[in-house]
Amino acid sequence: MKKHNFFAGPSILPQFTIDETIKGIQDFDGSGLSVLEISHRSKQFVAVVEEAQSLFKELLNIPDNYSVLFLGGGASTQFLMLPFNLMNKKAAYLNTGAWASKAIKEAKYFGEVVEVASSKEATFNYIPKGYNVPKDVDYFHITSNNTIYGTEIREDFDCDVPLVADMSSDIFSRPVDISKYALIYGGAQKNLAPAGLTFVIIRNDILGKVDRAIPTMMNYQTHIDKESMFNTPPVLPIFSALQTLRWLKAQGGIEAMEKKNIEKASLLYNEVDRNKCFRATINNVADRSRMNICFVMNKGYEALEKDFLDLTVANGMVGLKGHRSVGGFRASTYNALPKASVEALVTLMQDFEAKQ
Ligand SMILES: *Cc1c(COP(=O)(O)O)cnc(C)c1O
Repeated sequence: MKKHNFFAGPSILPQFTIDETIKGIQDFDGSGLSVLEISHRSKQFVAVVEEAQSLFKELLNIPDNYSVLFLGGGASTQFLMLPFNLMNKKAAYLNTGAWASKAIKEAKYFGEVVEVASSKEATFNYIPKGYNVPKDVDYFHITSNNTIYGTEIREDFDCDVPLVADMSSDIFSRPVDISKYALIYGGAQKNLAPAGLTFVIIRNDILGKVDRAIPTMMNYQTHIDKESMFNTPPVLPIFSALQTLRWLKAQGGIEAMEKKNIEKASLLYNEVDRNKCFRATINNVADRSRMNICFVMNKGYEALEKDFLDLTVANGMVGLKGHRSVGGFRASTYNALPKASVEALVTLMQDFEAKQ
């Protein structure tokens, strides 16, 4: 039986993506070859990249003055590639979690980092508000969804300086007003494809403004000019990403996906809030992530944490153990997770409560 997969990443992918990837590995479009053993510059594979880029643009409604890049190195390489290309002297960062902190650490190699606000003192359990972004910074960086702590910024706000977002774990979960951002990046392994692919959506005019020399592979312009084919791109993850993008379109696009994501998240948060055995770790409802739902045992029930975790495993659910820095539980409810998996978890929580 297929498990209920709540892993945070790599994580559940649509069955369609897995089935089509298997077919492509065995025989790519009737070519008699596997997608694993053809040139990335072959006509068939160039068509894969082109369709994936065009679906990215179509589904996210990306304006024409932006490029979509498919790179390797993970979001973690973007932590340094971004300041390499965009920070002349100074950049601003909002510190909302472990990934934001890592991005800040890398940016400091390139210049001055202004941390405009941080929720570190409260285990990152809220999104700071009311901070000021200095006008003289080269860009302002946010992490839209904090995968570990379960907070999310869903507002595409106006910003006086170029706005940059790490959207590793919420890309394609809701419509995004791309025009508000100068650059968006992420690892694909949370909501799109197998690990190994990094996407970058970049407004073309923001490049070429820093004084330093940028090595070829680190330079976004290289990858824009060569359409992500400067070197061998992560061929199989791109192929799988294309399948997910086709699936997303067939599901009714991102608006339809957002509707389902709201349903799934509400179902689980409502149960966490109602059930006497559990409580959410994020109190401010507006800050709660729709992709990573974190909760712990309620006061008086702390000793039952292992019992409940064991029960989830015994009921075919995987990946619910919370990150070690938060404890408790984390249910990742990415696009591909069926509502039935959330329903099964909610039922289990209710049965558990009834026995206490
Ligand atoms: C997983 C994750 C990362 C790290 O991605 P890698 O591809 O492993 O480098 C960075 N930011 C966020 C928000 C993440 O969820």
